[in-house]
Formats: sequence, structure tokens, C-alpha cells
Amino acid sequence: MKLCRFNEGRFGLVEGAYIYDVTAALDVLPTVRYPAPWQDNLIAHLGMVREEALRLKDEAERFDVDGVKFLSPVANPPKIIGAPINYQAHIDESVKDQGIAHGRSVTSIHDWGLFLKSSTSLIGFGEQILLRRADRRNDHECELAVIIGKPCNKVSRDEALSFVAGYAIGLDMTVRGPEFQCWRKSVDTYSVLGPWLITADEIDDPDQLDLRLEVNGEVRQSSNTKHLVLDVSGLIEMASSMYALMPGDILMTGTPAGVGPVVPGDVIFASVERIGQASVQVGARYA
Ligand code: MN
Repeated sequence: MKLCRFNEGRFGLVEGAYIYDVTAALDVLPTVRYPAPWQDNLIAHLGMVREEALRLKDEAERFDVDGVKFLSPVANPPKIIGAPINYQAHIDESVKDQGIAHGRSVTSIHDWGLFLKSSTSLIGFGEQILLRRADRRNDHECELAVIIGKPCNKVSRDEALSFVAGYAIGLDMTVRGPEFQCWRKSVDTYSVLGPWLITADEIDDPDQLDLRLEVNGEVRQSSNTKHLVLDVSGLIEMASSMYALMPGDILMTGTPAGVGPVVPGDVIFASVERIGQASVQVGARYA
């Protein structure tokens, strides 16, 4: 099942070229009282919401997929986790191009560990990426994004996928420079997720998916998640070896080769096999 958030906070069930407005399905969610648990309320109760969405679909108002503004399918992620240098071809280009590496020793993800991006950097494909730091390279990174569905801690790679709620396309936008990733990748609007969440039962093997990114129609990135150095199960194992994973956590699995700069006015098109495709605009620079 594909689920999305669109327009002014509507909730939708995506089928083919249509979105069914099943916002009323959110009425099954429990009321959150202060202090709120570290989880996305919708993702934590996805099973209930799915059932209700299906029940409501036949009576629901229908929209064209091309006619809506997509918001991030996860509204309140406790964490956004990033995976650095997780495709060999991206490691190779980072070694060659100091515009990417900035003097860092590009060794392996096992040496670097994972990084966190600010939760408030998150937008959907219907919003705009607003660039900061005009003096810097602002790069696109097209990635498979994994949405965690259940709390877990210190999980083995064998059980890792059982904690996944679903998948989406992720753009890990990046200001290049010498600082830590958590600084350069946490800019408002620098995490793009969507256009919808596809539930995990529809993806047999997340490590066999083509992914592709174009800027203004020019192909910049084209690869397959089979080239991940640390695969999806391995990334969940690694992340949860250090901290608990919570419903709604987003794990961006790393970028293949072909990263490069974008400027205001560019249109980024991204697709991941079995999930879908979407475009997002690079807006004016942040004032
Ligand atoms: Mn990345």
C-alpha cells in the first residue's frame, strides 16, 4: 500500500494515477498527551490506519497524483539517520574530488559511523528546497529511505527488516565543506522524503532497487541498491547497535556516485524502482 500526505495536511491512499483522500482514517490515532513519546504517532499505529484507510477508500474524494502538493509522508520523525560513503563508486568520486571530500580521509562507513540530520530539515516533494550558503556547493544525493515501524534496539541483521514500516525516496541535500555532516546536512529543507511511503510488505528485497536522479532532465545518478556497501539490514543493525530506533525514524541509506551541485531554479527528478518517482524544485535562496 502507498500512503501519502498532501496539500494542506490531507492523508491519502495512492493507487495508480489517483490519490484517495482518507484523512478521516487519522481519527483512529490515539490522542497524544504531554510529554509525547519519541515516535511518529501515525507510523506507530500504521496497522490501524491502513485498515481504516481501506475501509474509507470507496467513499473517498479522488485526486490526480499529478495535481497535488506532496508533503513528507512522515510528519514527526524522531531522528533522520544518514549513511556516509556507502557505495564504492561514491567513495571513488569522493577520493578524486576535493569539492566533496574537503581533506577528509575517505575510508569506509565502518570507520565513519552514521550521522544524524535535524528532524526539522524534512520536507516533501511538493515543497521547495531553499539553498543556504551561496558561497558553497549545494549537492543532491539520491537515496533509498527506510522508515522504521517498531521500537528496536541492538537488532541482528537477520531480524532487521521486520522492524521496517516502509520505504520512500530520500534526497539527502548537502552543503559541501569541512564541517561535520550533522551541520552541513541539517539545513531546513535539506531532507526530502516521498512522494509517498510504500509499505514494507510490497518490497521483497530493498537491496535490489534501481535508483536514478536527474537535474533539469540530465541524468546525474543511476545505480542500484545492490551496490550498497552496508545493505539495509546491515544499516539497521549498525544504527541500533548505538541507539534505539523508534517508529517514524528515517534512515537514508547513502548515495551512489554522481553527486553534484544544484542552483535556484533547478528541478530535481528522482525515482526508485517499485516506489515511484517525483520532482522537487530548488527554490530561491533562503533570504
Ligand atoms: Mn547521503
